[in-house]
Amino acid sequence: MATNEYEGGLKMIEELTTNAEQIQDEVLREILSRNAGTEYLRGFLHGQTDKQLFKKNVPIVTYEDLKPYIDRIVNGETSDILLAEPITGFFLSSGTSGGQPKLMPVTAQVAKKWELFRGLYESPVIKYLVDINQAGKRMELMFARPEVETPSGLMATSVTTSIFKGSGFRASLPKLYTSPSETIFCPDPNQSLYCQLLFGLIQREEVVMIGSFFASTVLRAIKFLENHWQELRYDIKTGRLSHQITGSRCRNAASLVMKPNPEQADLIENICNCKSWDGIIRKLWPKARYIAGICTGVMRQYTAELEFYSGGLPLVSSLYVSSEAFCGINIEPLCKPSDVSYTFLPNMAYFEFLPVKNERDESIEMKSNDEDTELVDLVNVKPGRCYELVVTNSTGLYRYKVGDVLMVSGFHNNAPQFQFVERKSVVLSVDMEKTSETDLFKAVTEAKALLNPLGFILTELLDLKYTSYADTSSVPGEHCKELDPKIMVECCFKIEESLHYTYKIYRKRNIIAALEIKVVKQGSFEALMDYCVSKGTSLSQYKKPSCIKSEEALNILDSRVTGKYFSPKSPL
Ligand code: AMP
Repeated sequence: MATNEYEGGLKMIEELTTNAEQIQDEVLREILSRNAGTEYLRGFLHGQTDKQLFKKNVPIVTYEDLKPYIDRIVNGETSDILLAEPITGFFLSSGTSGGQPKLMPVTAQVAKKWELFRGLYESPVIKYLVDINQAGKRMELMFARPEVETPSGLMATSVTTSIFKGSGFRASLPKLYTSPSETIFCPDPNQSLYCQLLFGLIQREEVVMIGSFFASTVLRAIKFLENHWQELRYDIKTGRLSHQITGSRCRNAASLVMKPNPEQADLIENICNCKSWDGIIRKLWPKARYIAGICTGVMRQYTAELEFYSGGLPLVSSLYVSSEAFCGINIEPLCKPSDVSYTFLPNMAYFEFLPVKNERDESIEMKSNDEDTELVDLVNVKPGRCYELVVTNSTGLYRYKVGDVLMVSGFHNNAPQFQFVERKSVVLSVDMEKTSETDLFKAVTEAKALLNPLGFILTELLDLKYTSYADTSSVPGEHCKELDPKIMVECCFKIEESLHYTYKIYRKRNIIAALEIKVVKQGSFEALMDYCVSKGTSLSQYKKPSCIKSEEALNILDSRVTGKYFSPKSPL
């Protein structure tokens, strides 16, 4: 991005956020005027396009409500039953947060919108972090998934894959990124990762950013590097790609750039052979200015580990997006991961907000069901309040609940800024009590404080039976110490003690049994990721589930259990 482009991006952010209200009205007007004649909207609007009628008549829906229409299109019916613009295929949402992947219609507009969105979220990053005169390459780890053909003949793919296929993006690859497209489209995720790391190491002197869509993928790459750096070093030394890489397109791409470089291989060996991998990213990529990867929401659990490897490089969460809409950008990329807010861009979709009660919102009166609770427009949300995001877009989603809970942290001009709170669907419930992702995160953080001094990193995961899984991967470079059973039992109690009152009451009455922590071997969560990827989740979009419902996935962890500890007493 040239200086004038990022300055143009910053100017556009100012214009969009200043005129948020008018832009939202225009966006809705355009969506309704195009789509009022569809079978779906005709049923509620009778061909009209009035905003008030839309608010009064169009129901708030979830994927299940729209699924019958989407299934008809998937099976070959014309897409104008739901949306006017012709569709070019479907997005497959990752499905790791809510179970089954969902299919969403895609139109030609989406790729254009993404290009616009990308220009906007990158502008603040470039302003603060990349000296334009010295711009280098990004080692961004990207994983395309094979497309799936639907009975209609149209293809379904992940949102990230469709971005990687965009012509604008592909054209920018050789100049801006270290990974050639052959590696991004390699169908084997491990071969793809190996090759992307190889290309990143070969060009290590030029790399200004290391990243991926989500922080977990960056961490996965570092762990992979810990296991494979010797082979990578050997490849660089000899100028020949390992025979383990069988993909012919990757091999061809490598043969074009690889030549023996023993000096570089020695430097890499010296760095990787160190006892501690503290700050390894900065050592391997000395010109890197930042690490990019979403660190908010379920990803915040990776921040501590990434900070260990980063050597003080800032972790930048630039964007908040979903398969349903490109929503918000982080205009202060240097802020701490825990303080990140996303400024909503009013031209991306029509956004409404369903008030959600949280501890800080005692004053809000909630009606018994969503239908009776009034949705709030983008510009009218209130600071400090929590809302569930509801999206209306031009690809057939009308008043669609995305399932994310967000808290208003402030405004930039007239556009609100949100902190990501949690996935609404991730609620654990043994009896009548509800434990959210946030409750869980807080409780695990309390317990972590007991383990941190011992040099362990604990990551959270609960399943419906309230079995707690702790990954005891030790900080690399340190010896894996024995877990002290006394401290583990204390951790169990700390989690229970830190959970909400209803949980504790149920626990006291023995309706909920004692919380159990199961310690799993190192690499267990990587095995879980591999399983999800083998089931079709895009590695670029993978999010470690906070709540596991699949028996098979649970077995992956259960089969790797090395220790079990129970809470010794009721927390009340
Ligand atoms: P997908 O279903 O694969 O399209 O993933 C979209 C979901 O990822 C969103 O609905 C959020 O739950 C999550 N997500 C995306 N961006 C962020 C972010 N910046 N912070 C936290 N969670 C995010």
